[in-house]
Amino acid sequence: MYDLIIAGAGPAGSTLARRIGKDRKVLLLDKRDLSGAVHFTGAAEKCCGGLLNPQAQDALTEQGIALPRRILEDPQLFSVRAIDFDNHMERVYPKRYVNIDRVAFDRYLIELAEEQPGVTLMEKTLLQDFEQLEDRVRVRVLHKPSGEVRYLEAKILVGADGAASIVRERMKERYLIPVSGNVLSGAAKEYACLQEHFTMPEGFTMPWHAAIFDRYVTDFYSWMIPKENRLILGSAIPAGEDLRLRFSRLKAELIDLGYPLQGAPIYRSGAKLLRPRMFGSVISGKDRIFLCGEAAGLISPSSAEGISYAIRSGSMLADVLAKPEQGRHKAYDRALCGLKKEIATKSLKSPVMYEPALRGPVFVSRLLSLKVKDVHHG
Ligand SMILES: Cc1cc2nc3c(=O)[nH]c(=O)nc-3n(C[C@H](O)[C@H](O)[C@H](O)COP(=O)(O)OP(=O)(O)OC[C@H]3O[C@@H](n4cnc5c(N)ncnc54)[C@H](O)[C@@H]3O)c2cc1C
Repeated sequence: MYDLIIAGAGPAGSTLARRIGKDRKVLLLDKRDLSGAVHFTGAAEKCCGGLLNPQAQDALTEQGIALPRRILEDPQLFSVRAIDFDNHMERVYPKRYVNIDRVAFDRYLIELAEEQPGVTLMEKTLLQDFEQLEDRVRVRVLHKPSGEVRYLEAKILVGADGAASIVRERMKERYLIPVSGNVLSGAAKEYACLQEHFTMPEGFTMPWHAAIFDRYVTDFYSWMIPKENRLILGSAIPAGEDLRLRFSRLKAELIDLGYPLQGAPIYRSGAKLLRPRMFGSVISGKDRIFLCGEAAGLISPSSAEGISYAIRSGSMLADVLAKPEQGRHKAYDRALCGLKKEIATKSLKSPVMYEPALRGPVFVSRLLSLKVKDVHHG
């Protein structure tokens, strides 16, 4: 029996495993193929922009982690270009990001976790279900290559399995956790994300990444990120809307502005995103189940940045699980207070970014924007 089974070896799960695996028996399982073919196969890839914002950089520093150069991708970006189709304006703002190869980043964090004596990695293995027994949790997993179903047991199960978390969904059903949400509180708002990768034509340079606002596409935002010889176009579109149609509109508008997004993409990936409300969207767990990272609902409601939340919550959970059993959930909830406050503060900021009528005057004022010679429109 394991002390801990962690479902999901993203930044949250691997951080937790690394922090707790020195003297605990930890099984880190992931449905992805983490050692096989890497890019553009879908087998290893998390659909992500791969930008580390200053909070994520700080979170890594707090963990004592520096990144090897092989994880970085050209170009390194110091600004964001805001393209506002609602108000027909563009502005450039300073933003210090680190541009990374997300597959290599995840693998590096897993390598660090595997250095701990108690950590075992089980890849290509899907957690399908679990059952809480009196003193342990029994987990049903599917080993994908062999099709074999196995039952594994641990004192604790951690759901670090991202936005589409099975652990969180099963837990909500079993404990009848309410799922309704309104503008301010309750269940997170669901988005479908799509990213397409295009070959960057020779001579085309983009010294920033772009945040694109168009209320006919989404009430959240879309983005373009240069990566080596590729250009990624992505968007987070409210679930239930016509994703393809809205994405095509976005692409056509950007092609009109001169961006090289014509033809078939070289790669396409998708993901669910749960945008938290100001209060009440974070779920930390129950009994022998704990959640961290995006599975717990921890992600920025203003930018969809989630790597810093994953690393910080994984580390906080490690501190809590190192303590005696009693009162762990309360202690974890207390630890998460700071992250929940950040989410509430970012929700307050969101209307200024996402309401065209409020964003317009900010752009007109040029407050905090950089003077860049080639800015189109306005
Ligand atoms: C389109 C998009 C772009 C984004 N861009 C950025 C960005 O540029 N910067 C940033 O900071 N954040 C970004 N985010 C958010 C960020 O990717 C996530 O918040 C972050 O990856 C969360 O980390 P995590 O460890 O909680 O979950 P994840 O990274 O999602 O990891 C979950 C892991 O669990 C595994 N898993 C899932 N279900 C199961 C199962 N049933 N059994 C076994 N394994 C399972 C998955 O394979 C995965 O490895 C983006 C999100 C999206 C959707």
